[in-house]
Amino acid sequence: MRVFNFSPGPSALPLPVLEKAAIEMTDTNGTGQSVMEMSHRSKDFKPIIEKTESLLRELMGIPANYKVLFLQGGASLQFSMVPLNLAAGDAPGKGKKAAYIDTGIWSDKAIKEGAKYAAVEVRASSKDKAYSYIPAAPQPQADDAYYHITLNNTIVGTKWDKIPDTGSVPLVSDISSCILSEPIDVSRFGILYAGAQKNLGPAGTTVVIIREDLIRKTPDWVPVMLRYDTHAAEGSMYNTPPCYGIYMIGLVLEWIKNSGGAEAIAGINRDKAGMFYNYLETSKMFYSPVEKQYRSLMNIPFITKEQDEAKKTELESRFVKEAAAAGLVNLAGHRLVGGMRASIYNAMPVDGVKALISFMEKFES
Ligand SMILES: *Cc1c(COP(=O)(O)O)cnc(C)c1O
Repeated sequence: MRVFNFSPGPSALPLPVLEKAAIEMTDTNGTGQSVMEMSHRSKDFKPIIEKTESLLRELMGIPANYKVLFLQGGASLQFSMVPLNLAAGDAPGKGKKAAYIDTGIWSDKAIKEGAKYAAVEVRASSKDKAYSYIPAAPQPQADDAYYHITLNNTIVGTKWDKIPDTGSVPLVSDISSCILSEPIDVSRFGILYAGAQKNLGPAGTTVVIIREDLIRKTPDWVPVMLRYDTHAAEGSMYNTPPCYGIYMIGLVLEWIKNSGGAEAIAGINRDKAGMFYNYLETSKMFYSPVEKQYRSLMNIPFITKEQDEAKKTELESRFVKEAAAAGLVNLAGHRLVGGMRASIYNAMPVDGVKALISFMEKFES
């Protein structure tokens, strides 16, 4: 029996995608081979990567002057690649100025890594209130090499309610946990990047969407694998790309297209999140710690109103355990913030959210 999986990542995949992958596991497109066994340079694999890219372009409305790259190393490697490619100087530590907004644990990691290669300035932070809101975004400075935000904050459950206008300074965003959850105006950004394992497919592939003028020659000391120009020049095939992940992303994108595209998926996501937040508003036991205006559609942390710390810990661990026994798994909050969290990515059906709410009502009573 399949469970309802609320994992923040790697997370649930749509059942029709898994079933199609299972059917094609040993023989894909009549080639007599698994995708895992194909040469990445073969005529068999070419249509697979091309289909994935063209579906992504279609579903996200990616303009023609942007390149799509399929890389490895996760979103975390982009914390290094962005500064290395947009701001690196003659040597590490001698980079150009870059603006960052600190909205959570992932932003903070991007900031710490960025500071090795760029002169990072944190222009705003919501750390003062445990990252429960999105701070006002100050104007960029004319000599900023780029301006970095985390659009959806997976751990604390916030999202930017509007995209800041950074003028001619390239806006760079980590969209790991919200890619294709809602339509996005790609033209407002210089670079968008996402690890696939939240909303796109299995772990191991990172999608980078980059405006062509930002693919520049970087200083010679920057490693060949960490340069966007290397991967862009070779169509993500400088070395062996994550072939199976690219294939799986293609199946997920096909499923999104069959579900009506980004707008239709967004409608379902708003319904799911709306239902859950409404329940939390009326609950006597649980609440959302996030300011209303900035609540994520994808990741919903919640905590009990119990004041006594020991009782609270006991209650919350009992909740997570009993939920799992009822087929609602991976509801523990992030180890750094505690409490509970329901990640309800695209693949979480409406019935999963309904089942969680009715379990919580029963637990309360
Ligand atoms: C999960 C996550 C990451 C880390 O992704 P990896 O692919 O594991 O490196 C970074 N940023 C955000 C917003 C995430 O949700």
